Amino acid sequence: MTGPAGELKIIAVGDELLEGRTADTNSGRIQRALGGHALRCALIQVVPDDEEAIGAALDRTVPGDLVFMSGGLGSTPDDLTRDVLARWADVPLDQDPGVRAQLEERWRQRGVATSPGIERQCEVPRGLAAVPNPVGSAPGLVGRLSGRMFVLLPGVPPELVGLLPAVIARLEQEGALPAPRATLVRRTAQYPELKLVQRCAAAREAYPRLGWSWWLSDWGVDVRVSAGAGDEGQLEAAGSMLDAEFGRLVYARDGADLPTTVVTLATARGRSLAVAESCTGGLVGGALTGVAGASACFRGGIIAYADQAKRDQLGVPAAVLQADGAVSEASVRAMAAGCRERLGADLAVSVSGISGPGGGSEAKPVGTTWIGLASPSGTFAQCLRFPGDRARNRLLAVAAALDALRRALEDGAADSPWRHGDTWWRS
Ligand code: AMP
Ligand code: MG
Repeated sequence: MTGPAGELKIIAVGDELLEGRTADTNSGRIQRALGGHALRCALIQVVPDDEEAIGAALDRTVPGDLVFMSGGLGSTPDDLTRDVLARWADVPLDQDPGVRAQLEERWRQRGVATSPGIERQCEVPRGLAAVPNPVGSAPGLVGRLSGRMFVLLPGVPPELVGLLPAVIARLEQEGALPAPRATLVRRTAQYPELKLVQRCAAAREAYPRLGWSWWLSDWGVDVRVSAGAGDEGQLEAAGSMLDAEFGRLVYARDGADLPTTVVTLATARGRSLAVAESCTGGLVGGALTGVAGASACFRGGIIAYADQAKRDQLGVPAAVLQADGAVSEASVRAMAAGCRERLGADLAVSVSGISGPGGGSEAKPVGTTWIGLASPSGTFAQCLRFPGDRARNRLLAVAAALDALRRALEDGAADSPWRHGDTWWRS
């Protein structure tokens, strides 16, 4: 065990993280991977590739801590993590023949000569053990030094993410993690965080011993409820209360993101999908095709940014564009219907909005976004007013378009996906 005083502390190493070139996403990945164990992260330190700075960060850990370090495990001169840790813990660096064999095998498979930096990559501070990397060359290093449990991971995000399951399994074997807490998750779209938190009030009052947290994702707001030992039985009832309160705002109860939910629903129901995008410029199609297996349901998309493209590629009548404009109910209905027909899909969603910063007017301020949906039963449309800048408005539009598909797939699309008025951004 990490002991009663044991806390999770993360040290992210890299000059690029302090110069604004790269955002530290690794710390979040580590925390999320450990989230099921309800380990509270007490400290994240972002430090440069500098011996003194890394040493000072190590000085802020105490015996019993679980310390994750990311970055600085490569073979270039600025990769200092192993050397600094070995000196700090006063242990030698050993050559690990197992690591060497793995690296050589990896290079052999790729048909390239072993690189000269290999010696450094095979060095392991005595007391740590290598965990093979399924997606890259640098292994993870796990073990106890100076009373702390250390996990050293490469900085390249896919390599770090690829190593996390094996590393966590190793920590579980070592008894270095608290028992996982029972949790439930409700992922919601189209609703602001504060209002959603308020709507949890009754369930929180009913189950005060459960732990509650909320956070924003690209698609909306997530709620997580966790139970300590003995309280697991309360989770199901709390989940039912949340479901009754949130209704169709919930798109996933299993942790899946919104594009995955849409692809899974469409595939299960045998429905094909298509997208007609103006202001989102392909982001909706990009989100759907980011899901492995999207080809089972996704037909394709048409990016029709200019009026002429809306006319020629989607069959939006010139009179509609002239009289109502491209950002209008008639326009998105025609876009969705034209897209559905031309791509031969069961359901098509369309997006046309004013992302900003220019292009707004009194009648159609920046953020005004029409979403259209065409189904076998007809076309539907909804105007939404987003409050953000260009980047955020486009993201909100992607989430709104995907959520329209999700609702239509859940309901059978006989009626408007927005008919219950449970969309916060409505104008
Ligand atoms: P390193 O393992 O230190 O050689 O890091 C390799 C690359 O991974 C860096 O150049 C960054 O692009 C990226 N990287 C390192 N640390 C992080 C981090 N904390 N978050 C996101 N990316 C990172
Ligand atoms: Mg680095």
